[in-house]
Amino acid sequence: MSGISIGEALTRGSCELSPVSETAARDVQVVLAEMMDRPREWLLAHPETPVPREINDQLASALQRLTAGEPLPYVVGWCEFFGRRFTVTPDVLIPRPETELLVEKGLQAIDRHPRARTVIDVGTGSGCVGVTVALERGETRVFATDISRPALLVAKENAEWLGAGGLVAFVMADLTEGMWLEDAVVLANLPYVASDEVAALRCEPRLALDGGDCGTDVILRLLQQLARRRPRRATVLLEIGAGQGSAAIDLASTLCHPGSVWLELDLAGRDRILGLEF
Ligand code: GLN
Repeated sequence: MSGISIGEALTRGSCELSPVSETAARDVQVVLAEMMDRPREWLLAHPETPVPREINDQLASALQRLTAGEPLPYVVGWCEFFGRRFTVTPDVLIPRPETELLVEKGLQAIDRHPRARTVIDVGTGSGCVGVTVALERGETRVFATDISRPALLVAKENAEWLGAGGLVAFVMADLTEGMWLEDAVVLANLPYVASDEVAALRCEPRLALDGGDCGTDVILRLLQQLARRRPRRATVLLEIGAGQGSAAIDLASTLCHPGSVWLELDLAGRDRILGLEF
């Protein structure tokens, strides 16, 4: 008798994952589709097809990693962001849907800013923000910084694979150090989770999440860099944590005295982006 069928593998996998995932059925489809190099829809249309033994073994070890709490994007090696597939490794933060708002607001800022020819993606991680902006607005020069060399390698690979290789310059730098900021649109999804909450999150790099005692240490450092330089006509958009809005507004106003400062809320109505205009 031959091995297990696709339909059986999906049902069993889904049962195995259901205690740890609310999207167990979908998760196992994503994993098996990746391993069989077929679209998810194809699997659903071919439940009788046998799963080759070695793929079944790979599936078992992937399910083990997932039940142990490893996030699905690390197990399959990619994550979708703004309709594109970004490679992710444990060296980078997994792109979150809420960060798509940062991209949308960044694109709007580029469009309404007649002189904004440069975008700086500060702390680029997987490159999802900078690469997306470059692909959506090809005429804009994008610089993407990170202090993590392994993260920059992942970001660069993403840029090349998605066809933005020549559009984004990757720079190993501490936040905006060494960057020309006048007339720029500065976008940043910096770490903003409070240290004691990061402990529970595991898996993702601490460097990408840990924002110190209150979560705002790295954002504060960026605001200090901006305060020193007061870049003329720059628009700055920073992703922040829900509930950090009023603290972020206070910090930005006191330190930077920008021309304007505001908050953008996400779809759930939570504080999500701090905006400054110089
Ligand atoms: N949104 C992420 C989370 O809550 C945090 C991202 C970040 O720190 N920039 O896990």
